[in-house]
Amino acid sequence: MPKQQLLEKLADLAVKVGVNVQPDQTVVIRATTETKTLARLITEAAYVAGAKRIHVNWSDDYISRSGLNHMKVETLEDIPAWQIEQAKYSIDEGACFISIASPIPGLNAGVDPMKMQRASIAMQKALAFFQTHVMGNKTQWTIVAASNPEWATQVFPKLPEAEAVEALWHAIFEASRVTLDTDPVKNWAAHNAILLKRNKTLNDLNFKSLHFQNSLGTDLVVELVKDHVWAGGGEHSTQGVYFNPNIPTEETFTMPYKWGTQGKVVATKPLNYQGKLIEDFYLVFKDGQVIDYDAKKQKDALTNILNTDDGSKYIGEIALISHDSPISNTGILFLNTLFDENASCHMALGRAYPMNIKDGVNTPVESLKEAGYNHSMVHVDFMFGSADMEVTGTTHDGRKIKIIEKGDFII
Ligand code: ZN
Ligand code: ZN
Repeated sequence: MPKQQLLEKLADLAVKVGVNVQPDQTVVIRATTETKTLARLITEAAYVAGAKRIHVNWSDDYISRSGLNHMKVETLEDIPAWQIEQAKYSIDEGACFISIASPIPGLNAGVDPMKMQRASIAMQKALAFFQTHVMGNKTQWTIVAASNPEWATQVFPKLPEAEAVEALWHAIFEASRVTLDTDPVKNWAAHNAILLKRNKTLNDLNFKSLHFQNSLGTDLVVELVKDHVWAGGGEHSTQGVYFNPNIPTEETFTMPYKWGTQGKVVATKPLNYQGKLIEDFYLVFKDGQVIDYDAKKQKDALTNILNTDDGSKYIGEIALISHDSPISNTGILFLNTLFDENASCHMALGRAYPMNIKDGVNTPVESLKEAGYNHSMVHVDFMFGSADMEVTGTTHDGRKIKIIEKGDFII
């Protein structure tokens, strides 16, 4: 059966190209109950690749929702010690991490936003050390996706459920460069080489700032940190292991200077945050900080992001993507950031990636902050690219160079 083969290829890709499991390495798989077919195949593939022991941390979005609805907020804020110990244990073991994303967009739409906010802040605080470990590339980590009926029927509302699930699987395979008659591992080597070349071009140009403009009203200048590094595609962990954090990925991204974003950005895709779909929104920045914003739907959820902490009103990532890209060309709105962010120029509110500044992964956070690195408990990407996007870079000696014209890279 072709689909079984494709699933096996996707599992193998997550193991070999995603985390690149090393001999005798512990693997932690984070999965929801929606994803058990793929989780089983990834587990098997990881053992075959030489994993020492595999832990699967299961969760269920409906059970999580019941908890959010019924638990007292004090209980939600009291993170069990074993959960923190579990994270510490996996760090001590030198584990790598595979997350299987399979969202149910809008599931938490009716949950009290205050409770969600307090629960998520408590969790992020308790596990801040873990986030720092993973986002600092101290080990390999990756995210892959799995179809589920609730997600698929929202992405393909006109199809019967079973067909929608299949259609979403096939969109996932296609976006992840998994096909029956090619070797996905080789496909990714070729893809990474292209991204590497683009990163090099942008790094050599060493822009001071980027100017984004389109007809929707985006008119935004994003200053970049000095010694910024454009990245995208494969990365090296601090242990020297090559891995791919996102399957799929199309982006080339870098670190904005925390206090250097000015102007207005208008989102071009809805943002699914904590199970709520924020739609038709814009943000206005002054000296890096969001000073005005609005959303036609789920403004509360956007407010929650911005009010998380001192860093969540500033951006930590700016990413460039051609409008003419495989994910964008599917024309599908995936209602999930892993896919939608790869169809469109995007930025992230909150925490920056240390690797986006020279030697950042080996630099203490306090020194990074002085250079303009934004620190926050959250990192929330949202999309603002469009077919008519124009991006112009300004170099340190004042030259202006067009990077993206009518939505597509021209350099
Ligand atoms: Zn990104
Ligand atoms: Zn991001």
